[in-house]
Amino acid sequence: MRQGIQHEMVRSELEEVVGTDFISVTETDKLIYSADWSWMPQMWLDRGQSLATPDYIVHPESAAEISALLEIANKYRIPVIPWGGGSGTQGGALPIYGGIIVDLKRLDKIIEIDEKSLTVTAEAGIILSQLEWAVNEKGLTLPHYPASANCATLGGCLAPRGTGTISTKYGKAEDMVLSMEVVLPTGEIMRTPAVPQHASGPDFFRLFLGSEGTLGFITEATMQLDYLPAERLLRAVLFDDLSKALEAGRQIMTNRFDPFVIRLYDPDSTRTRVNKIHGYELEGAYMVMGFDGDPDIAALQEQKSMEICSELGGKDLGREPGEGWWEHRYDFYYPPQNLKLPWMYGTTETVTTYDKIENLYWAEKKAVEEGYADWNVKFIGHFSHWFHWGVMLYCRFIVENPPEDAQEALRLHNRIWNTAMTAVMENGGMINEHHGVGLKLSRFMRRQYGDAWPFLLGLKKAIDPNGIMNPGKVGFGF
Ligand SMILES: Cc1cc2nc3c(=O)[nH]c(=O)nc-3n(C[C@H](O)[C@H](O)[C@H](O)COP(=O)(O)OP(=O)(O)OC[C@H]3O[C@@H](n4cnc5c(N)ncnc54)[C@H](O)[C@@H]3O)c2cc1C
Repeated sequence: MRQGIQHEMVRSELEEVVGTDFISVTETDKLIYSADWSWMPQMWLDRGQSLATPDYIVHPESAAEISALLEIANKYRIPVIPWGGGSGTQGGALPIYGGIIVDLKRLDKIIEIDEKSLTVTAEAGIILSQLEWAVNEKGLTLPHYPASANCATLGGCLAPRGTGTISTKYGKAEDMVLSMEVVLPTGEIMRTPAVPQHASGPDFFRLFLGSEGTLGFITEATMQLDYLPAERLLRAVLFDDLSKALEAGRQIMTNRFDPFVIRLYDPDSTRTRVNKIHGYELEGAYMVMGFDGDPDIAALQEQKSMEICSELGGKDLGREPGEGWWEHRYDFYYPPQNLKLPWMYGTTETVTTYDKIENLYWAEKKAVEEGYADWNVKFIGHFSHWFHWGVMLYCRFIVENPPEDAQEALRLHNRIWNTAMTAVMENGGMINEHHGVGLKLSRFMRRQYGDAWPFLLGLKKAIDPNGIMNPGKVGFGF
């Protein structure tokens, strides 16, 4: 479909829908929309290789326009790829088979802020920080705080089931969504019931959370808000032993002391990341905890949690490092602290129950470090998003001197991922907790789901009969 008469016919039909100002086929735009933030396409471009590019980039401004675009795509059987901020790290928005990139950022309106029910209804292409600033003016917050809030869109956070820094108290993005407007792959526009917690049939709207654009477009969402907290207490604790630190976190959660954050760094992260960013010289497992809301309740929750830490040998480092961590919590992800090419890196984040998490951590670390000792691979991790029943483990592997050749680098990257994901699945973990599956983890979906996989495939086929929606992602379309 690169050129020729059909290309032009489709282009003129797309123009009819969005207008000539909101469609692009320039080589520059095609290049920009060929890579998201995942390592694979970034490395590929860095090594002078070319990527699959989209045939068209369109910027619709409404669900009705998206519906009309889908009619055209179904007629010609052209892939359609939703694009939010392009900040995804899994290759979820890559146009691997060409097709139409649908950039959603013109759907950026705030429709209603309900200060009584504490909800906001907004279009899905709004950038998260812009939504946050608007609700902040009313003393409210949307407590989904990903490190990418300045570039990620609301729909882009819901589609891969994202998690933010304060999820331990407030939940994942999917826990805050009350209802959604969705455009199905066949073009129908559907709104789910305004009230999410009911017993009027199955909770089908959750299907679109985690679908990453393979089952349609999220075009609008009503989200639960919270009051901006009157108090935010932060504190740092140092443990000699990772095991004891994990047990402290578990006890704080199972006793429901309600921290908004527990960030526990393994000793290697403490040494290489925490010390570097904050200028410390600490050894051990470094933990930051936070409690917010009513000052009296937050103080009591903090006190009870500190008692648990102290009984398990945690050394209280006081408030200042905790507050410093909060101030610099995103530094880790941005220049000059972020990981950069030509290094090879990957974030293998997983989640499992408390009875398995420590074994999983050691098994994955051993498999990656020993399996790729020749490449001097480093493996560091931290435990962030805590639940009543378990915790998320965010690991990174880093190779400072990877192969120069793009093919060889990609092969090594894939092999390390295979090793890491095998260790994760063999030890009871999920292949992912919040970055989504995208292209990178697609190949593991069948194994992850086993007997349930044909059910998911059947759903995909029923909802997207022509297979046009984001093919090759979330394990679909192979
Ligand atoms: C520096 C940095 C820090 C990050 N920190 C976090 C973090 O703390 N927590 C976290 O969860 N993630 C984080 N991420 C990953 C990424 O930002 C999130 O996954 C984010 O939610 C993606 O939003 P986006 O709008 O950029 O989506 P995109 O990258 O554009 O798209 C992601 C996927 O969702 C699909 N999609 C996008 N919009 C829609 C829609 N409206 N309807 C249907 N499908 C859609 C796309 O097709 C694609 O498959 C980080 C990324 C970076 C680069």
